[in-house]
Amino acid sequence: MKIRFIYASFHRHAEDHPELREHVPCDEYFGPPSLGIASIAAFTPDEHEIDFRDDRFEDLGLDDDVDLFAISCFTPSSVRAMAIADAVRSRGKPVVIGGIFPSVRPQEALQHATAVVVGEGELSWLRVLDDLKRGRLGGIYEASAPCDLRRLPLPRVDLYLDKECEAYRPDDYPVQLTRGCPLKCSACAVPLSLGRTLRYLPVEHVVGQIDQLAARGKLASLTEDTSFFPGAPRKHFERILDVYVERGEEAPISYVGISMPLVLATDDAFLTKMRRAGVRMFYLVGGFDPITKGAFTGTNPRAREKAELAIRRCQEHDIDPYTSFLVGNEEDDEGVFDRMLDFCETVSLEKAEFAIRTPYPGTPTWHEMNDAGRILHRDWSKYNDANVVFRPAQMSPERLERGYLELWRDFYASRRALSKRDHREATIQF
Ligand code: SF4
Repeated sequence: MKIRFIYASFHRHAEDHPELREHVPCDEYFGPPSLGIASIAAFTPDEHEIDFRDDRFEDLGLDDDVDLFAISCFTPSSVRAMAIADAVRSRGKPVVIGGIFPSVRPQEALQHATAVVVGEGELSWLRVLDDLKRGRLGGIYEASAPCDLRRLPLPRVDLYLDKECEAYRPDDYPVQLTRGCPLKCSACAVPLSLGRTLRYLPVEHVVGQIDQLAARGKLASLTEDTSFFPGAPRKHFERILDVYVERGEEAPISYVGISMPLVLATDDAFLTKMRRAGVRMFYLVGGFDPITKGAFTGTNPRAREKAELAIRRCQEHDIDPYTSFLVGNEEDDEGVFDRMLDFCETVSLEKAEFAIRTPYPGTPTWHEMNDAGRILHRDWSKYNDANVVFRPAQMSPERLERGYLELWRDFYASRRALSKRDHREATIQF
């Protein structure tokens, strides 16, 4: 059978707010797809022919001779994904949808697709293919047990790499170290979609992922903050870094995702080892943890001190703290924007991004907001961290959106020189 995978498009910050392109003196980051399609493609038996289309910049060929269309989406791309699914079905062809959004709202996805894959996809995918072959594809597919990560083949990132063109040429691609998370951060969908047990990909598998990218001249982005949990997760990460230290080479890593509490909980020896192994940048995600929720409220000097310390620790270890600030938390009043800017100047941040708190469907924050009647609309395409989709606690939705845009503008007003840096240093996600 011929199977076509489709990555559905969505709007980034600069697409919803084109004025950001004037304010931000950096190259826009047009990132790679998530690993979902690459992982499922790798798990597809050889008897099938597969190809891949990226909806962001190429035609989907819906009239081509294809036996199954398989669409991956998350919340901001779900509206587009459902429209594609409708278009496929109107042509009388089967279509399956998977990813974070269909995992938390399977019935909604099933109104558009022939079949929906919920949660981790690999084992369900084999059932999807079997049912398609037998002419009985339909309904919701959910694996009864987690996938054995020791059996995973390397993800088919070549499908993404082969698409590179003038419109799409990322410097880095994601690499997965673990799946699942035992914590319950209120805004995070990872435990919902990948389970509450932290499972590890074998060290050789992770190194294989990094090396296959390096062979194509690409860097690896390690987005999972779970790698910094004390104990077994950190040991697992350390074993991966050790491979590069022992090889005497720098690991080709663009950045590692982490939060401020985890920076403070990581000892100097490990930070030194990371830098020695080649880690030059942290993607410091804020707004979910007690430190960044409290640091900019003006009422929690201890949280502010800890936030400053977290940034300084990164700088002392020569690891660039690229920081993501979130606005719209319950504690945020209208002074939060000025306090964030003051913080950025105090700790001399070079680059940052700003995001609006978003209650993603299925997360604890979503349920809380929905129960309180604070959800403003369900246009999922606006659930992209760049629009206000809920009623904030201490300001109007309009003030929150204006403050978010002012943060981008005012932060980068004094950083125009970034445009003269080389491509890698001048590129940020917006
Ligand atoms: S934000 Fe990180 S630590 Fe929190 S639940 Fe999600 S994956 Fe786990």
